[in-house]
Amino acid sequence: MSNNSLLNRSLQSVWHPCTQMKLHENLPLVPIKRGEGVWLYDAEDKRYLDVVSSWWVNLFGHNNPRIKEAIKQQLDTLEHVMLAGFTHEPVIALSEKLAKLTGLGHAFYASDGASATEIALKMSFHYWRNASKPQKTKFISLQNSYHGETLGALAVTDVAIFKDTYAPLLMQSAQMPSPDFRLAEAGESAEGYALRCADVLESYVSKHSHEVAAFIIEPLVQCAAGMAMYHPVYLRRAREICTKYQVHLIADEIAVGFGRTGTMFACEQAKVTADFICLSKGITGGYLPLSAVLTTDKIYQVFYHDSAARGFLHSHSYTGNPLACSAALATLAIFESDNIINENRDKSAFIQHSMQVLTDLEISHLRHQGMIFAFDVKTKDLQFVSKCYQLAMLHGLLLRPIGNVVYFMPPYTITEEQIGFMISKTLLILRDIL
Ligand SMILES: *Cc1c(COP(=O)(O)O)cnc(C)c1O
Repeated sequence: MSNNSLLNRSLQSVWHPCTQMKLHENLPLVPIKRGEGVWLYDAEDKRYLDVVSSWWVNLFGHNNPRIKEAIKQQLDTLEHVMLAGFTHEPVIALSEKLAKLTGLGHAFYASDGASATEIALKMSFHYWRNASKPQKTKFISLQNSYHGETLGALAVTDVAIFKDTYAPLLMQSAQMPSPDFRLAEAGESAEGYALRCADVLESYVSKHSHEVAAFIIEPLVQCAAGMAMYHPVYLRRAREICTKYQVHLIADEIAVGFGRTGTMFACEQAKVTADFICLSKGITGGYLPLSAVLTTDKIYQVFYHDSAARGFLHSHSYTGNPLACSAALATLAIFESDNIINENRDKSAFIQHSMQVLTDLEISHLRHQGMIFAFDVKTKDLQFVSKCYQLAMLHGLLLRPIGNVVYFMPPYTITEEQIGFMISKTLLILRDIL
């Protein structure tokens, strides 16, 4: 099949996500034929280094033999069964493993990150109803937060381009100042600024705790905001404030979970246990759609009752899909057997060191958190994102800046040589357009 005919067929029949489709009159789609390790190969066998882990989902490279084998084995046994009234080994084993890793005893499953957000919001609201506090119906989140695009998730998201059009459909929620360290005042430390933001949170929560069900937050890095990073003290204070005023803390670890921030889960760095944790993206190593919401046994028990309506009557057809669970189990097995969290420490240091060559450019706020690396480009060019993306593709890099933020979130399997390629090409590209 020639490239052109694939592109035309796609434009004729596929509505692509997060895209003004008219853009593709001038910007060709990229038909990908296969993947291998950090590389994606297009229909003409040109390869691109997947610097963004295919939208932050891939952990151990494309065509990973271990994850692939686990899915194949599961495929020969059981592809799917409904999870209401039935159960199976992969979903049990995965729930046990996730409980051990997070300290939260019960796992509820869906297929996408946004569904996990919806579930956590509904569970929190329903918990307070079951606990005879039905007036606790409101949610708060951070400025510039991103929690997904379904209506409930969008209601707690704070990205204008995604949200404004749908505003009339969305429930009201309140946004607290983001502890993003770039917003600190001159001379103010990241920690000092985070504490100042936490004071604003406390002041709001202390006045509204009677009506607030939960505070949902992306721990340590607000990825969609442009890899906005903040001091862990904010999470610690948020936990204290939520406990003090009886508000749930929902940790949206959909992007930052599974080692991205240097620990298995970002909350660990603040020694914080949330009341709900939302997981997705890396959970299957980027293989199959799966998400999970974990919560405490205490919250679970408030739903456990003779009354059906007190139960959590929420479901998705593919809840707990065995193939997806087997991919997740294989992913967790790689973390254990290959000591990934430790290995990534050296890799992170190597990338940080290699990125120093970029400091000659007109950039600011060079930053990292575990295996997430970013910097802000000083430019007023409104075409920066598309110029950078297109030039990077020409040079064999899948780089997708967010506004003026260039970031690297590569698969953990990236080698030193590939890191060299990623950074030298980025330097070349930015020299060209800045
Ligand atoms: C991607 C993302 C989501 C939404 O996940 P989808 O699978 O795209 O629905 C929610 N929260 C955060 C922090 C994310 O990065």
